Amino acid sequence: MSSKINTLHTARLKNNCPTCFGTDGLEFTFTQAEKESPLYKKPTAEIESKLYCHTCKNDIYPVNWTEDIERVFDYNKKIAETNKQYLKVKPLFYVLVIVAIVLVAAIVYLLIPTI
Ligand SMILES: [Zn+2]
Repeated sequence: MSSKINTLHTARLKNNCPTCFGTDGLEFTFTQAEKESPLYKKPTAEIESKLYCHTCKNDIYPVNWTEDIERVFDYNKKIAETNKQYLKVKPLFYVLVIVAIVLVAAIVYLLIPTI
């Protein structure tokens, strides 16, 4: 089972960076981890979010967020939620389902005595 991180949504902010006070460096990134098996892809329920400043190259942690940043965060989190990914089965899953149906049909056919 391998896992992978999907980016759901990114947004640049016009807000001041709490660290360097720059107004064009902040960016939100919303990600969702996904576990992958041969049969399906299963994303985690939780969306991870990160605020990064491209000007001072720092991660800005929620303790340092201003009210304005929080407001922008809430807005973008909703957008990220709409991009949220759900369990996806792969083609191999359907192949196995079809094989199972064919097998059951074959067994039923063999068990029913011919008239
Ligand atoms: Zn900064």
